[in-house]
Amino acid sequence: METIHTVEWMKQVARQARAEGRILGLVPTMGALHEGHLSLVRAAQQQCSPVVVSIFVNPKQFGPQEDLEKYPRQMEADRARLEELKVDYLFAPVAAEVYPPGFRTHVEVEGWSGQLEGRSRPGHFRGVTTVVLKLLEITQPRFAHFGRKDAQQARIVRQMAADLNLDAEIVVCPIVREPDGVAMSSRNAYLKPDERRAATALHRALDAARREIAAGERDAARLVAVMRQVLGAEPLASPDYVEIVDAESFEPVLRLRKSCLVLMAVHVGGTRLLDNMLIEERDGEFLVSL
Ligand code: AMP
Repeated sequence: METIHTVEWMKQVARQARAEGRILGLVPTMGALHEGHLSLVRAAQQQCSPVVVSIFVNPKQFGPQEDLEKYPRQMEADRARLEELKVDYLFAPVAAEVYPPGFRTHVEVEGWSGQLEGRSRPGHFRGVTTVVLKLLEITQPRFAHFGRKDAQQARIVRQMAADLNLDAEIVVCPIVREPDGVAMSSRNAYLKPDERRAATALHRALDAARREIAAGERDAARLVAVMRQVLGAEPLASPDYVEIVDAESFEPVLRLRKSCLVLMAVHVGGTRLLDNMLIEERDGEFLVSL
């Protein structure tokens, strides 16, 4: 694996790969890699060669009161895991390389930034789309892999790619979970042992909704009530939002329909955790992916 630190060299390597007719895949991350990230890398390797994994803790997507300073950074361990997977390139630029002095251009997908994650984290998605567009421009991949763990982010990035006629196809991969159901996340490292136990409440709440759906419940408000009850029984958990939205429009739904997402953000101790599940209707059956 070659580690690349500069934008110019990354562009040159990507240009060369394209000139050779190769199918470049990009997996953007902020590092502190876990099995969730590695599942994206493996999915990219199924479709692409070479695969570029980027590690960049993007300051623009953190609010002033957020955890930019303490966000876990473990470049050597990350590099070893990517070497093991035989990743071709690690793109790990420093912030001044991505945002040189005088930088003043941002991109924003309008309409969704004030909703769900956007409401709780003003400016977050503007930071995400700005850095993702830059990474897509620098590497010009044929495919870019994202996790459904961050479902709203994946939807917004897909919209940006369509609106700006980008060549990259945005691939959204399933959520990888710990054996007890907790969605893998770099931020799980912040959890103290009792908080880590409490973090199972998110998955338990989704699972309770899943059982209600299997029993025939279709009413969104009643499903949300069931999930809030599970979360409410966990003293260390405090929900920010629990919502059911159309997976395409991200508008709240009253009843389950063709393709919906159940989305939640929950504070567990001082850590804000996300989880979600996808509900898809096929031939009158509702299939749930956790
Ligand atoms: P991050 O490093 O948190 O910015 O995440 C980088 C990418 O990995 C994003 O597309 C995330 O959605 C994805 N990701 C994070 N956690 C998981 C997980 N548990 N399962 C699948 N994908 C994930």
